[in-house]
Amino acid sequence: MERATLLRSSLACNRLFSFRSSTRLGLSRSSSSSFSSSSPRNHRHNRHLIASITGRSLLRRHWILLSASSSSPSFSLRREKRFSTLSPRAVGAPTQSPSEFSEVQDEVAEKLGFEIVSEEFIGECKSKAVLFRHKKTGAEVMSVLNDDENKVFGIVFRTPPKDSTGIPHILEHSVLCGSRKYPLKEPFVELLKGSLHTFLNAFTYPDRTCYPVASTNTKDFYNLVDVYLDAVFFPKCVEDFQTFQQEGWHYELNDPSEEISYKGVVFNEMKGVYSQPDNILGRTAQQALFPDNTYGVDSGGDPKVIPKLTFEEFKEFHRKYYHPSNARIWFYGDDDPNERLRILSEYLNMFDASSAPSESKIESQKLFSEPVRIVEKYPAGEGGDLKKKHMVCLNWLLSDKPLDLETELTLGFLDHLMLGTPASPLRKILLESGLGDAIVGGGIEDELLQPQFSIGLKGVSEGDIQKVEELVMNTLKKLAEEGFDADAVEASMNTIEFSLRENNTGSFPRGLSLMLRSMGNWIYDMNPFEPLKYEKPLLALKARITKEGSKAVFSPLIEKFILNNPHCVTVEMQPDPEKASRDEAAEKEVLEKVRASMTEEDLAELARATQELRLKQETPDPPEALRAVPSLSLLDIPKEPIRVPTEMGDINGVKVLEHDLFTNDVLYTEAVFNMNSLKQELLPLVPLFCQSLLEMGTKDLTFVQLNQLIGRKTGGMSVYPLTSSVRGKEDPCSHIIVRGKAMAGRAEDLFNLVNCVLQEVQFTDQQRFKQFVSQSKARMENRLRGSGHGIAAARMDAKLNIAGWISEQMGGVSYLEFLQTLEEKADQDWEGISSSLEEIRKSLLSRSGCLINMTAEGKNLKSAEKHVSKFLDLLPASSPYEATTWNARLSPGNEAIVIPTQVNYVGKAGNLYETGYQLSGSAYVVSKHISNTWLWDRVRVSGGAYGGFCDFDTHSGIFSFLSYRDPNLLKTLDVYDGTAEFLRQLEMDDDTLTKAIIGTIGDVDSYQLPDAKGYSSLLRYLLGVTDEERQRRREEILSTSLKDFKEFAEAIESVKDRGVAVAVASPDDVDAANKERDNFFQVKKAL
Ligand SMILES: [Zn+2]
Repeated sequence: MERATLLRSSLACNRLFSFRSSTRLGLSRSSSSSFSSSSPRNHRHNRHLIASITGRSLLRRHWILLSASSSSPSFSLRREKRFSTLSPRAVGAPTQSPSEFSEVQDEVAEKLGFEIVSEEFIGECKSKAVLFRHKKTGAEVMSVLNDDENKVFGIVFRTPPKDSTGIPHILEHSVLCGSRKYPLKEPFVELLKGSLHTFLNAFTYPDRTCYPVASTNTKDFYNLVDVYLDAVFFPKCVEDFQTFQQEGWHYELNDPSEEISYKGVVFNEMKGVYSQPDNILGRTAQQALFPDNTYGVDSGGDPKVIPKLTFEEFKEFHRKYYHPSNARIWFYGDDDPNERLRILSEYLNMFDASSAPSESKIESQKLFSEPVRIVEKYPAGEGGDLKKKHMVCLNWLLSDKPLDLETELTLGFLDHLMLGTPASPLRKILLESGLGDAIVGGGIEDELLQPQFSIGLKGVSEGDIQKVEELVMNTLKKLAEEGFDADAVEASMNTIEFSLRENNTGSFPRGLSLMLRSMGNWIYDMNPFEPLKYEKPLLALKARITKEGSKAVFSPLIEKFILNNPHCVTVEMQPDPEKASRDEAAEKEVLEKVRASMTEEDLAELARATQELRLKQETPDPPEALRAVPSLSLLDIPKEPIRVPTEMGDINGVKVLEHDLFTNDVLYTEAVFNMNSLKQELLPLVPLFCQSLLEMGTKDLTFVQLNQLIGRKTGGMSVYPLTSSVRGKEDPCSHIIVRGKAMAGRAEDLFNLVNCVLQEVQFTDQQRFKQFVSQSKARMENRLRGSGHGIAAARMDAKLNIAGWISEQMGGVSYLEFLQTLEEKADQDWEGISSSLEEIRKSLLSRSGCLINMTAEGKNLKSAEKHVSKFLDLLPASSPYEATTWNARLSPGNEAIVIPTQVNYVGKAGNLYETGYQLSGSAYVVSKHISNTWLWDRVRVSGGAYGGFCDFDTHSGIFSFLSYRDPNLLKTLDVYDGTAEFLRQLEMDDDTLTKAIIGTIGDVDSYQLPDAKGYSSLLRYLLGVTDEERQRRREEILSTSLKDFKEFAEAIESVKDRGVAVAVASPDDVDAANKERDNFFQVKKAL
C-alpha cells in the first residue's frame, strides 16, 4: 500500500514480461545492477495491468529491481511452520498440513473419472506431483502437493492461430466477460474488486492461452477456480456479439453526421504495441523465422488485420479449442488434492472427447538453407537525429525440433555467459563498440516449440548497420575459438545456482512460475515433470565443465546452433517520421470507404448500435447477478495487519533494523544513505552515479573483474535512489539504497563488496560513462512510448510537490532532456562530470546519514553484525556538506508531451491534503472502487482504452487519474472530472461494499516472500508508518461505509477544479484538443 514517487514509470506489463520466461529452466539473465539493457521478446499479452500499477506499487517495484537480477522462476523451499502462523491470513482459512490430507487414493480418482498417468516426488520443489488423465475427455491434470500456502490453479489451452486477426487474444479477453453461472458483465472485475487473490490475470502466447489464479485463502481460492472454469467452458461471449465488439473491434459512430472510427480494447492495446519499435522488431523477427507455421502470424493481433475478424470465426475458435480434450490443468499448494479433482470432475464430465488435440498440434518449422534479410520501417518522431535511429538484429532458429533438457540448460548457461551481465563479452563488446545505444533481442528464447537466439543493437547509424552485423559474427566466432575465462564461468555458475535455490519469483507466485515452466514441455505433449527437475542436469553440466573444460562444452554449441546455422534472419529497422501519419491516413481511408458504402439507413443503424453498446456497457449489473459471484465475508478477514518481526538496534552509532525470518540461509541487506546534503543540480546525475558504482571498476579491479566478483560471491547487488513524500512533513524522504544478497556464510564478502562499490570505485572511465548515457537515453525513450502513463504521472507529481520533482529529475521527461545535453558535455567537460560524481559520493557517504536493514534467520543476523560493524567503521563519521533544502517544482500548467504514437496516455492529478482532506483507511477502498468501476467502465470498456485507473499516494496526498493506450484525450479528462459526481450518485448494497473492502484488504495483505517483507518494513520505517497506524487504517478500511464514498467526493472535486492534466499523446490528437479547448495543453516535443 505504501507508494512513493520514484520510478512510477516502471510498469506491470514490463514486469510480467521481464519476468524471464525464456528458458524452460528459468535461468534468468542476471545483472549485477538494476540496469538491464536487453528486454526479452514481448510475445505474451496480459488481460489487464491494473492490479499491479495501483496501490501497493512501491514495495513491489523496488523489489523487482533486485529480483530482476535473480528472478528465477523456481522451486518451493521448506517454510518454517511458525511462519504460516505468523500470517494472519491463516485465520481465514486454517491451513492444514499436507500430511493431514488423506492421500489421493486411486479409488477416489477413479470414482471421479480420473486415472493416474504417473507420479513423482520432486525434491527441487519439495512436492509430490501426480499427473492425472480425465478418462472421458482426455483432459490432463497436474496436481502438485506441498506446504506452500500460496495456492495456484491454471488452465491452459493450445490455441494456434492461422492469421493475425488476434482471435486467441480477443477470446482471452472475452471469456472473462460473463458465463453461464456468473451472468454479469465482467466476473473478472468482480474478482479483482472483491477477492483475496495473490494473482489474477490471463495470458495469450503465440500458441497457447493461459488462465491462472492464486490465493492463500482456501475458500477464496476455490471461488476463483470455479469462476475461471465456468468462464472458459461456458462463456457468454460466444452468444454475445456485443462482447466481441467491445473486446475485439467494432465501428463506432456517435452521430450519423460524424466520421466512423474503430474501437475495441484489444484493438487499442495492439495499436500501442505496434507503436513501440522494440515490439515491432520482435514481431517481425519471429514471423520471419517461422514463415511456415503458426508463429508466422501474430496471436495478439495486428491492428490492420483485427477488423477482418468475424464473429463466426471467433465462435468457432472457442468451440474447437476451449475443450477439455485440449486442456492442461494445474493445481499447486497445500490444499486438499481430492477436492481439486472433485471440482474439476463437475466440469469435465459434461464433455465428450473431441478431435481438438490433433487439430491444435503445433507443427514445427523446417530449417532454411539460406539466410534471410528483412527491412522494416517504424514510426519515429520528426525531431531529433534520425540518422542514428536504425536498429539491426540477428536472429537464429536453433533447431527444427525441441531440445533435450541438458542441451537446453547448457544453452541457458551459455546465454548468461555471453549476455547475462554488463561484463558478459557479447553484451560488453557490442555496447563498447560505440555503434549503437542499447542491446535489442532477448538472447536465447525457448518458451516456444523451437528455441531461438536473437541479438542486435538500436540507435545505430545507417552506415554502421553492416559493421554491427560483422561485429556480432566476429565476436561469436572469437568466443567459439577462445572460450570464456574461468572467473566468468564461476560467476555465471554461482549466479544460476543461487537463483535456482533462492527460488525468488518476486510478486509471481512460485506455483505459477513452476506451472509456466512445466507447460513449456507439457503443451507439446512432452514430459511435464522434467522441467521441474534441475539438480541432475545441473550436476552433470558442472561435472562436464570440470572434466572437459568450459570451451569443450560451449564452443561446439556456438558453432552448431549459430555460426554454422543457415536459418538466420537479419532484421533492419528504419526510422520513418511519416509512418505514424501514413498508418493513420490508411486507417481513415478504409473507414471512409466503409462509410461511403453505407446507406443513410445503415448509418442511422450504426449510430443506434453504438448507442446501444454504450448503454449496455454503462448500465450496472443487477444486484442478483453480482451476488452470483462467490465472495468471502468480513468474518473471513483477519483483523490485524501482517506484522514483520523487526528488531531495532544500533551498531557504531548507526541504526540497524533486523528481521528474523526464514530465508533458507540467504542474507538480504540494504544499506541506506540519506541524500539530504546533495546539491539540487546534481540530482539528475544520481541514476548514472548508481550505475557507475556497479559498472566502472576500482584501482585494482576492472569493471569486468568487479562484476565477476559480485557474481561469484553474492546473489546480486543493485543501487538505486528512493524518493517519496512523508505525510505531515515538509521535507521529502530521499535516499540511495544499496541492496545485496548472499548465502549467510558469505556475509563478510557481501559487506566487503558493498564497501568496495561505495568507496573504491573510480569515476574515471569516460567511455563507459558515455555508454551509460546512451543506454539510459534509449531506455527513457522506450519508456516514453511503452509506459507513457508513468511519464505523465511523474510529470504531474513534479508540478505538485517536491518529492515528485526530485523523481522527475531522475526518471522523467526532465531526465531525458538532461541526458540529451549530457552526451555532448561528456565529451567537452569530462573532468567536471567526474568530479560531480565524486561530490555525490562525498555528500552521501557518512555514518550519520546511514541506516542498515537485514533480513535472515536470527543466527545469521547475529553473525552478520560483526561484518556490518567493520563496514560502518570504514565510513566517514559525517558528510562534509551541510544538509540542503530543495525547493523546486515544474510550472503548474496543463501539458502534452508529444510522441509518435497511435494511442495516448492521459493523466490528471491534484493534492487532496492541500484542500484539508485528512487521511482515512476508507480512501483505499474508495479509490480502488473508482478504478474498478467508474474508470474501468468508462475509460476501458466504453472508451476503448487498454487501461484506466487512479492512484492515491497517501504520503504526498496526490490523487492521480491515468489511462493507458487510450484512443481518446479530452473525453478521458471529462470522465475523470465526472468522478465526484459518480461518487455522489453512487448507490451500493452491502454485498458490493463488502467486496470492495475485502478486495482492498487483499491489496494491503499482498503476498510477499521473506525478503520483500523485510524490505516493506524498511520502507515503512523510512516513511514513518508505524504498526499502530497500520492497525488504525485497517480498522478504517474494515468499517468503510457509503458515507465515506460521499465524503471522498468532496475531496476529489478539487482535482477537477484545481488539478493539473498531463498527456503523452500523438501530435494530431493534441492539435485537435487544443483547437477544441482553446490551447488547453502546453505542447512539449519529446521524441
Ligand atoms: Zn490484452
